[in-house]
Amino acid sequence: LTAVEVTEAHLARIDAVNEKVNAFLHIDREGALAQARRVDEKRANGETLGPLAGVPLALKDIFTTEGVPTTVGSKILEGWLPPYDATVTRRLKDADVVILGKTNMDEFAMGSSTENSAYGPTGNPWDLTRIPGGSGGGSSAALAGFMAPLAIGTDTGGSIRQPAAVTGTVGVKPTYGGVSRYGMVAFSSSLDQGGPCARTVLDAALLHEVMGGHDPLDSTSIDAPVPPVVEAARGGSVAGMRIGVVKEFRGEGYQAGVMQRFDEAVELLKELGAEVVEVSCPSFTKALAAYYLIAPSECSSNLARFDGLRYGLRTGDDGSHSAEEVTSLTREAGFGDEVKRRIMLGTYALSSGYYDAYYGSAQKVRTLITRDFEKAYEQVDVLISPTTPTTAFPIGERADDPMAMYLADLCTIPANLAGNAAMSLPCGLAPEDGLPVGLQIIAPAMKDDRLYSVGAAVE
Ligand code: GLN
Repeated sequence: LTAVEVTEAHLARIDAVNEKVNAFLHIDREGALAQARRVDEKRANGETLGPLAGVPLALKDIFTTEGVPTTVGSKILEGWLPPYDATVTRRLKDADVVILGKTNMDEFAMGSSTENSAYGPTGNPWDLTRIPGGSGGGSSAALAGFMAPLAIGTDTGGSIRQPAAVTGTVGVKPTYGGVSRYGMVAFSSSLDQGGPCARTVLDAALLHEVMGGHDPLDSTSIDAPVPPVVEAARGGSVAGMRIGVVKEFRGEGYQAGVMQRFDEAVELLKELGAEVVEVSCPSFTKALAAYYLIAPSECSSNLARFDGLRYGLRTGDDGSHSAEEVTSLTREAGFGDEVKRRIMLGTYALSSGYYDAYYGSAQKVRTLITRDFEKAYEQVDVLISPTTPTTAFPIGERADDPMAMYLADLCTIPANLAGNAAMSLPCGLAPEDGLPVGLQIIAPAMKDDRLYSVGAAVE
């Protein structure tokens, strides 16, 4: 097959189903075919090809793409054409990947269902009346709906892993600093991390290797080689490994079928030669509360740049309003409810007089969580849990209940707060609803390869 044929087949699939699924916000037909043609030409001329030459990919609409719309799921960036590529975008192009287009997401990556997108919700290919997870629901739906074999997401509190879990796909949040954030629109800078999404563990590893590694343009990028993730995925083994089951991640609110599949995965790990023990991380029960102070605080600062003057949308610029009024009218019209809620929560938590009580306490909890992880890793090599407490819920069910929505990330948030690496991979279907269940694996920072060893062994 030529790269053009592979690309055309995927574009045809997108044409056939995207109207129903709404996974892609923008299909870059021309760009994709031009890239595919370049790959075929290179091959014909005997030139060296990149490691993922000709493989189509769906890119979350949070990464800037030169000359190609980048909305972050928000009206406020409508019409903006970035003048530059994110480092991740650049590395994909250098690896000869074919970028098919930009995928739907919760506005500014705030959400767990993709219902907060300004461009309509995405359907879960397993059942279009259900959510595909969020914020990266578009990327996961593109994989589950066979519109692309590879995709990219970002994970601030679970937005790669939770969509992977509910769509039966693989998603990895690399170690914080493992993948460049340059050109990745910021939500909560100390938590945001881009990562690979795929249908198999090895595919995720191949993509991880291409997108990861040091970037001088991102000051928080780790100056060390990418952990040997591909080697680990090819070798896949848990023999002699010590694995910890996080005690705090079960009980009330966890769906029976999710726990059943998780317990079966524990048995399988034992059969494959791992030693499985229970570990307690008491501070994890406070992770959600700490996250919903830290993430909104950072977002309130990061989103100040959307002032109606610099990018995209501008409202009220008719000569009758001051610059300040234009900013406020633009933000009123351009931001959705959840984004406004977070900005208000964040500015409140950071305001003088409340800073210590809210933001300060949340940072202390963050330290306790990091310490609980460190203690756990004295006993075990990796930790495991269900990725999400439930399978995909119906579209609309939690849309008006932010607290219920936030619970979707109960198990994923601690890894972000501590900067650890984590993966979600398919763990069977829940017997009661026939929907995918995700197994989460968490590893210490810079030990991302352990995720792939375990993931490939149980896949
Ligand atoms: N669902 C979480 C939130 O709404 C996590 C989002 C993410 O990881 N980007 O903030």
